Order: sequence, then C-alpha cells, then structure tokens
Amino acid sequence: MPDLHIGGRWVGSDKGDRREIVCPADGTPVVTVDEGGPADAAAAVLAARQAFDHGPWPRLPAAERGALLLRVAEILERDRFEIARAESMDTGKRAVESEYDVADVVSVFRYYGGLCMSGDQGRVADNGRDDVVSHVVQEPVGVCALITPWNYPLLQTSWKVAPALAAGNAFVLKPSELTPSTAILLMRSLIEAGLPDGVANLVLGAGPTAGAPLVEHPAVDLVSFTGGLVTGRAVMAAAAGTVKKIALELGGKNPNIVFPDADLEAALDMALTAVFLHSGQVCSAGTRLLVHRDLREPFVAELAERADRIRLGGPFDPDAETGPLISAGHLAKVEAYVAAGLAEGATLRCGGRRPGDPGLRDGFYYRPTILDDCMSGMRVVQEESFGPVLTVETFVTEAEAVELANDSIYGLAGAVWTRDADLARRVADRLRLGTVWINDYHPYVPQAEWGGFKQSGVGRELGPAGLAEYQETKHIWQNTRPRPQRWFGG
Ligand code: NAD
Repeated sequence: MPDLHIGGRWVGSDKGDRREIVCPADGTPVVTVDEGGPADAAAAVLAARQAFDHGPWPRLPAAERGALLLRVAEILERDRFEIARAESMDTGKRAVESEYDVADVVSVFRYYGGLCMSGDQGRVADNGRDDVVSHVVQEPVGVCALITPWNYPLLQTSWKVAPALAAGNAFVLKPSELTPSTAILLMRSLIEAGLPDGVANLVLGAGPTAGAPLVEHPAVDLVSFTGGLVTGRAVMAAAAGTVKKIALELGGKNPNIVFPDADLEAALDMALTAVFLHSGQVCSAGTRLLVHRDLREPFVAELAERADRIRLGGPFDPDAETGPLISAGHLAKVEAYVAAGLAEGATLRCGGRRPGDPGLRDGFYYRPTILDDCMSGMRVVQEESFGPVLTVETFVTEAEAVELANDSIYGLAGAVWTRDADLARRVADRLRLGTVWINDYHPYVPQAEWGGFKQSGVGRELGPAGLAEYQETKHIWQNTRPRPQRWFGG
C-alpha cells in the first residue's frame, strides 16, 4: 500500500521516489516508504482546503468531534504494541519507552476529546447596549501544516493532531523523514475512527522538499512546528511571507539546579534521568547541572560512577537502560560538541566515547558523558547537542543560581532541588522557563500547557492553550433593532 494519504486516498509520491528507513540500533532496514515532494505537499494542501471549506468536519457539533477523538484513543490503545514496536524500530528507543509514549498519546486524544465534550459555546460580551448582542465565538483556524521531529515522533504529532481536530481544522502532517512509521499508523486509526476524507492528510519526505512547500503555501492558515532552533527560525521567516499563524516548539538547554539541602538521593537519581533518558534526545533534557559548590565533588563523583554503569542496547534488549542516537550524522554532531567542550577547558568525568561493546558496533551509540568545570560561555553549555552530555557548573548564592540558569537563549524547562519550599518557589518564579519542576524532573500531563520562553518557541501545546492555538476568535455583533444613524446627512 502506498504511504502518502491525500484527500482520503493512499497514494504514492508524484515523482515515485522512495526512502529506506533504518533502525539506529543496528542499521537494519526497517521499511521503505514513499518520499513526497513539492507536488505532493501542494496536492495535500488543496485536499485539506477542500475538506475545510466544503466538508462537514468544521461544522460538526464539537461533541461529535470529541466522540471521534475518543474513538481514536480506543483504537490507538488497542494497537499500542504494534505502534510501540514501529516507533522503536524507527527511533531505536527501548520498546518499553515507546509503550509509555503510546500510553501518553492515548491520554492526549482522551484529553482533547473530553475538552470538546465540555461544549464551549463562546461568551456574550457586555457591550453596554440592550439592542445589540455581542457573541464571541471560537472557530477553527483552517488548514494547518503540522511538522514534527524524530525524537518522540507520535507523541509530538499527537500534541498537534488532537487539538487541531478538536478545534475543527483540516491538516497536512509532515513527520520527520527519519521516523515516518507511526504517522502512517495514526492515519489508519483516524480513518478507522471515521474522520471525513481530506481532513487528515499525510505527506512524507524531507524538510526542504516536503515541509517548506507547506510553510510557504498560501492556502495554509497555520504552521505548527516542533524541531530544532535553526529550522524553527527558517520556518518563522518563511511563514511571514503569507502572515501565517505559527506555533513553534524548539530546543532547550535546561538547567537542573541542586541546592545543598536537597534530598540528595532523589536529586542524584533524577539528575541521571533528566539528562540521559532516551540518550539525551529530549527537548527538555536536564543537560546543565548547576550544583552548589559545597556539594559538587561528592555529587558529581557519584553521578559519574552511576552514569558509567548505564547499559546501552537496542529496543528489545531486556538489559538495556537507554538506546542509540538517531543517526550517524547526529552521533558525529554530539562527538563534535564534546570535543569542543574539552577544547574550551571542560574536564571529562565519564563517557566521551562510543561504547567498546562489539554487539553495539552497527548502531549509533554514545556513552553517557559528564563534562565538569564548565563555564556558562562555553558552546557545549549554550548550544543543544541533543545527546547524552551533561555539563556541570557551580554556584554559591541563590541569585547566582538563577542568573546562571537564565543565561541562555533558550527557556524551555528546568528543575530546582531543595527542601526549602520558599526557596524553591522564589527560584521557580524567577526562572524564565515554560516548565519548572520542583524536586522532580520530566513529568508532564496533557492538562497542563507545554512550551518555551525566549528562543525555545512561540505558543503553547497541551492544556486549554494548546487548543486555543488552533482557534480563531470571532466577535459577532448582532443589532436586534437596527435604525438609521444619520451620520451622513443624505
Ligand atoms: P529538525 O528541525 O531537523 O526537523 C524537524 C522537522 O522539520 C522535520 O520533520 C524536518 O523534516 C522538518 N524540516 C526541516 N527543514 C524544514 C524546512 N526548511 N521547512 C519545513 N520543515 C522542515 O529537528 P529534529 O532534528 O527532527 O528534532 C530535534 C529537535 O526538536 C531538537 O532541537 C529538539 O529540542 C526539538 N524538539 C522540541 C520539542 C519541544 O517540545 N520544544 C519537542 C521535541 C523536539
């Protein structure tokens, strides 16, 4: 069966191009898929436009859209093992992690399905006139281009698809060219749930050839993009040509601040999870450890000792604790960042190399790495390597911790560890971050907004604000007793 989905039909690409997907854990071929280009992107936009302008979906009662989203959740839950397996083959991540991801995806569809059911009818604004009704309503934005990355392929997609559909939009989804499989499975689930033709369209392919034409297309009303900062800037600039609405979820260099009075056992354990989960390929990874000077030596020594014991392996290796990087190119990028950090004066505490295990030779693995003696100005501290690399900086005062944490162009997420609730709250209030965890790291829920301050992004996903991104607000002024005003004499 062909892999692009346009106007309710599965089709091959216009040019007949194909792309082979390989598993990053061992380089084995996973699947070959159709590779779309500009003509496919344009066809998908027109199909979405047609469905939005003339189809039933945007005009359905919200509760019916909600019911469909809940059916999608059921289908995804039923197929969770097949979906998780596909995700693991494309990304190399452990099967158990993909299963968690699919469970999260199901929750996202349930949350937005429920939000539709709550039946927001807009509001009547007080306009001071008894002869006029001012009704403020939310409408779908229109045709949305949804562009997603490879690290959490289906999860990042669900954060866009579920609210876009809840609001009544039509969309074209362009997943990462490296990890297309679960987008195909999601499309099948949407069809099985009964989504009208043309509302959901799927174009596979590379960013410049399949993604950029969506961003530039005049018939697209909104672009929601998750990916790297450099691509995000290009998307923002390209969207300006037609003044599209945009939502951007970009990178992070996320501070994890440990005060001396913290529960050190928990702080240490979670510092490892913060940075080395999914081998650091997490936008909110706690890659910058800011530790009080008095704690630094014992804390970092134990961290390094435990990081050195982390077992690497493929998706179905029951002993593996984390997996490979996504590609050879990405591995080389991570290596270059570590080399740059060492050249700038960092001290290697562990890792800094590929694993020696011959069983991992064909995968893109890199050992968990800790760079000590880092300074805020170093490239490895400021730029996102998106790999298993932790940098260590020290502070003495609360003010210094806050200043270091905020010394970044990014502002996505971070954590503060202390038993002093007042201190924790003071610091949390001063961090310029979209998410702050106190005595924890990484959890999120579909009910609470996610997104970045500063160059980590524009807009919010999840929560009610994640739905609002996909809505336009309209004021309908209804004069119930129209009379001539005689503004002009005539
Ligand atoms: P990327 O920017 O390389 O690609 C993201 C997507 O954009 C892909 O689908 C790609 O094909 C497409 N693309 C590339 N060039 C394009 C162009 N010119 N026009 C339109 N689309 C284009 O990112 P990646 O390497 O896939 O993902 C990793 C990045 O994603 C990291 O920086 C990470 O921090 C970020 N991320 C952020 C969040 C968040 O919530 N803030 C979540 C996950 C990942």
